[in-house]
Amino acid sequence: MDIQIRNIHKQFAGFPALDDVSLAVGSGELIALLGPSGSGKTTLLRIIAGLEFPDRGQILFGGEDMSRRAVRERNIGFVFQHYALFKHMTVLDNIAFGLTVRRKALRPASAAIRAKALELLDLVQLGGLEQRYPHQLSGGQKQRVALARALAIDPRVLLLDEPFGALDAKVRKDLRRWLRELHQQTGYTTVFVTHDQEEALELADRVVIMNRGRIEQVGTVDDVYETPRTPFVFDFLGDSNVLDAEVRGRELRLPGAGEALVTDSIHPAGPVDLYVRPGDLRLAEPGKTGIDVRITEVQRTGPIVRASADLVANDSVVSIELPHLHHDAPAFRVGAQLRLRLMQFSVYPAARGSQTGPTQTPVREREPGQRGRG
Ligand code: ADP
Ligand code: MG
Repeated sequence: MDIQIRNIHKQFAGFPALDDVSLAVGSGELIALLGPSGSGKTTLLRIIAGLEFPDRGQILFGGEDMSRRAVRERNIGFVFQHYALFKHMTVLDNIAFGLTVRRKALRPASAAIRAKALELLDLVQLGGLEQRYPHQLSGGQKQRVALARALAIDPRVLLLDEPFGALDAKVRKDLRRWLRELHQQTGYTTVFVTHDQEEALELADRVVIMNRGRIEQVGTVDDVYETPRTPFVFDFLGDSNVLDAEVRGRELRLPGAGEALVTDSIHPAGPVDLYVRPGDLRLAEPGKTGIDVRITEVQRTGPIVRASADLVANDSVVSIELPHLHHDAPAFRVGAQLRLRLMQFSVYPAARGSQTGPTQTPVREREPGQRGRG
């Protein structure tokens, strides 16, 4: 069942929790809503579910307008972070719950309900635990029971709101992989909410990056990593260095870089912000363009060398990361003056002095002549 979300607005006491949100989720897709706390993820999920109603905008399932339908008419499966199981019921009864409370006309026979619940228990790999009570399960097992309970009603849409958020890191990782496989087997249209980048990127077909009630970017994992459309997306997906740069004519220049970094910039002349990840900086080949820095600090712990440097031109601080076995690594010594090559970077209209940030669409730029990651 595909989902169309059209121009949703939602305010709470004058505060815009969702500001003109539109999104299409394909049938059978697993999409992740990713964003910091307070960005509107849960509100959007609750609106899809019918637990909350938008001030404006529409929700359609399979082309059918659901906007005014009550939650029980939407046939949704939910799992929340703290969606407690019924404590006084066995695992089997918990899973069967959604079917046993159906109106008589729609309720399967009790033997059929039991068979279905046992089948789901196997699907979530908890076969044999049907007579346990919730307090006899681990956190990860409880969330798998919650998922089986959500699936029991054959939902049109599965909504998962930080379902693994309360579990420890190792269990989260295992469940993530498990959920991905389960999704491949079952193919439910699934909206998964998380504030954890790694979780979203590992699980989802596409990710929706949210910030302050708006969608910043929707795309595949590769899209959002390779072409972050806004500084927010760039920053949210990993570490970043932000450097003042300038477009002169069509040349992109950094202070302290001899030659232009880009000679055919698509940005209008004027100041720009250049974003580069610490892991995308390497030594420039002799005579090649790059930024001149002086190394101020080096940490060689574990598999990564982390260095800090000052830009020679203006003392901006730059962080650098590289594998400790990399052939560039020995050059990173405190006091060394080095020229660094930017393997990949993004350029955005300068936000300097602006409260609201850039308004133009930024475009990814690369080192001249270079394709892909170097
Ligand atoms: P997220 O799930 O991304 O953390 P939420 O959707 O829960 O974000 O919240 C988005 C914004 O809306 C937050 O600022 C939050 O405080 C506010 N908000 C959410 N629900 C309510 C509510 N019932 N009443 C008032 N404000 C709310
Ligand atoms: Mg939330």
